[in-house]
Amino acid sequence: MYCYNCGKKLNDKNICPECQKSYTPISMWGYLGYEILFALPVIGWIILIILALGGTKNINLRNFARSYFCLLIIFIIFVILAIILNIDILPLN
Ligand SMILES: [Zn+2]
Repeated sequence: MYCYNCGKKLNDKNICPECQKSYTPISMWGYLGYEILFALPVIGWIILIILALGGTKNINLRNFARSYFCLLIIFIIFVILAIILNIDILPLN
């Protein structure tokens, strides 16, 4: 496998020797853990934004954080739309 960033061949640990980017896959438990972490209000969202903006050397984790961030923005847009249009998301009565 080759680095998408610089084109160098990756070493046996899926790390580029040139730009140090890691292509190691995230495990199933890793995905579950990160999803729970990103769902935490405030602290989880701060970690999500840091990872999405490139706070990790792992390409897969960065892309997962970016996709989760997009999902969060879409969710926020729907909530704002529901508030503007006065739709009951949680009909309590
Ligand atoms: Zn590279």
